[in-house]
Amino acid sequence: MNIGLFGGTFDPVHRGHLALARAALERCKLGRIYFVPANVPPHKQRQPLSPFLHRFTMVALATAEEKAFVPSLLEAPEETEFGRKVRGDKPNYTIDTVRRLKQSLKSSDKLFLLIGMDAFADIATWHEAEVLFRECEFVVAGRPGYSLADVANALPESLRPRAEVTKPFHKQPATGDLVLPGVTIHLLGDLKQPASATAIREAAAAGKPLGRFLDAPVAEYIRKMGLYK
Ligand code: ATP
Repeated sequence: MNIGLFGGTFDPVHRGHLALARAALERCKLGRIYFVPANVPPHKQRQPLSPFLHRFTMVALATAEEKAFVPSLLEAPEETEFGRKVRGDKPNYTIDTVRRLKQSLKSSDKLFLLIGMDAFADIATWHEAEVLFRECEFVVAGRPGYSLADVANALPESLRPRAEVTKPFHKQPATGDLVLPGVTIHLLGDLKQPASATAIREAAAAGKPLGRFLDAPVAEYIRKMGLYK
């Protein structure tokens, strides 16, 4: 089976995430997508994140209606792992999450990492980035302000192709596959979903309605729990 792994802070999960996951599901014939909220310890945070439990709950609510979308505790901090002690409150490298997930997969399963172009722009700085490209194929989605034409340039230097190879991808919208030695990237062009978690947090703080970015159960959860005030 083709399996998707979709990591993020998901603070909160929104329609942009769901659009990416649906497009990847169809494009790569994925049988299942794990939504993995990241456990980011306080000293690693650029801005304070909502507790893991809230972010996980919102992912569970947002994915409830889609059979193939599975909320995942792969990066849960120790105390929220429902009594099962797994590890401490350490940062999770994606490569470690991939290895952990692979332990539960069949050898015939194939793993696809779902990611937006803003996050992929930093991929070369990720821990064991080259190994990550060997372990899974990537599905990279365009996002307003970030061009898919930059996908090849964002690769770790050892995997970066010569400029001629990537010329076709400089024509927008990029929607093809980029296949290089040790790298397979499926490009999802414009998802037409400008939602961002930052905009949602700002709207919630200003008491504005959230229905434009979120489905009702998540918007209602944010209201009930008083998040982002
Ligand atoms: P923030 O505004 O807090 O930075 P975010 O909206 O980018 O949050 P994340 O949880 O950081 O949400 O995103 C998880 C993944 O989903 C990232 O790979 C990101 O690039 C991708 N993503 C988020 N929103 C969109 C969108 N509207 N279109 C395409 N990809 C998206």
